[in-house]
Amino acid sequence: MRAFVAVGIVSLVSLSSLVIAQAALPAGDAELRPAPEHDTSSWPPFPDADGVPIDELPIAQAEAASEPPAPFELLGMRIAPGERVTLDLELSQSFTGGSVTTPVQVIRGDQPGPTLCLIAGIHGDEVVGIEVVRRVVEHLQPMGMSGTVVAMPVANPIGFRQLSRYLPDRRDLNRHFPGRSYGSSASRIAQRIFDGIIRQCELVVDFHSGSFHRANLPQVRADLDNPILHAMAGWLGVSVVVHGGGADGTLRRAASEVGIDALLYEAGEPMRFDEASVVTGVQAVLRLMRSMRMANLTDSAPPKSEFFRGSHWVRSDSGGIFLGQVELGTWVEQGQQVGTVTNPFTNERSAVRARETGRVIGRAVDQVVTPGYALFHVATVEDRPGVNDGPIAAEEAEPVESDERPE
Ligand SMILES: [Zn+2]
Repeated sequence: MRAFVAVGIVSLVSLSSLVIAQAALPAGDAELRPAPEHDTSSWPPFPDADGVPIDELPIAQAEAASEPPAPFELLGMRIAPGERVTLDLELSQSFTGGSVTTPVQVIRGDQPGPTLCLIAGIHGDEVVGIEVVRRVVEHLQPMGMSGTVVAMPVANPIGFRQLSRYLPDRRDLNRHFPGRSYGSSASRIAQRIFDGIIRQCELVVDFHSGSFHRANLPQVRADLDNPILHAMAGWLGVSVVVHGGGADGTLRRAASEVGIDALLYEAGEPMRFDEASVVTGVQAVLRLMRSMRMANLTDSAPPKSEFFRGSHWVRSDSGGIFLGQVELGTWVEQGQQVGTVTNPFTNERSAVRARETGRVIGRAVDQVVTPGYALFHVATVEDRPGVNDGPIAAEEAEPVESDERPE
């Protein structure tokens, strides 16, 4: 594993100017329609510092430490407090035997605090998170910061180069964590990321977008039965939080199995930078860091999120031209018509109807579809067996098949 120090410059930009810059950003997903009246008594309590076992949070452990922070070690490098470096993580080799590497940026605060890892681009076509992490890292300064941020903006540079979700062997990197050093190509890359980076993190935010001509409402996915993740999800302040632990082989499932708290920020569609999704993500990370007392780069306290326990897909029952009638974020009622699929030759129209009342958190863009194509992803307050396909089982492709796309 090769590592080198690329940057060690401490900028003199003041924190106050960053607060102003953040306050000037647009509101992101703040324009959602309000939720209809419904019973919220079964919802988990809104998390805050009083509602979770605070002594279990990394911020409390860091505050309890009276010693100045020790150097942080990553990829064989010692990074001193107040230092900012870029390391190279070797992931694989090309056909010509050259190293395939990806940059890992480390901002080591001069005050003690948690280690927060920001990982994007596990799917190479999901570019929203790449831009979120880039902007966050651009804002951060080690002086005055508590704890450490480890940022990997492009975890899958092979897929990113081809704007592909997959690796060249058609494997999905996010089904191979924690990986094996003697396994498949995807498994070996996963192992390099997991052992080299993730195991050094206390908290992980993994960034994703919809797959294959589908867009996601900005949302957080987390195991809400974990009080720390519940708190983190609330601190991000994104309007929608959906419960789930992630499918086998996903980064966050593998991280949680070794005691590292990881959650997901999902927004937008693949291969498209949409500004609202990017801004919402940047604001969310800055709010999280503010709540964890790592850095005070935003004066925006987290707005209250809506928590959902389940979700399901509304699928097409016929082939033809799909035109949706409701946008992301809409609350739909059971039986409500949400789109049509029209036979291009007979003009026969089929109505697409909501199966249950809930909020649309993902939808296919208008396109040609075949029967069974997943059109709307609807989050529901309760997880109702037989209605939902279960709590979200995977980051964004399940229960949608990875290669499900129009023909
Ligand atoms: Zn993804």
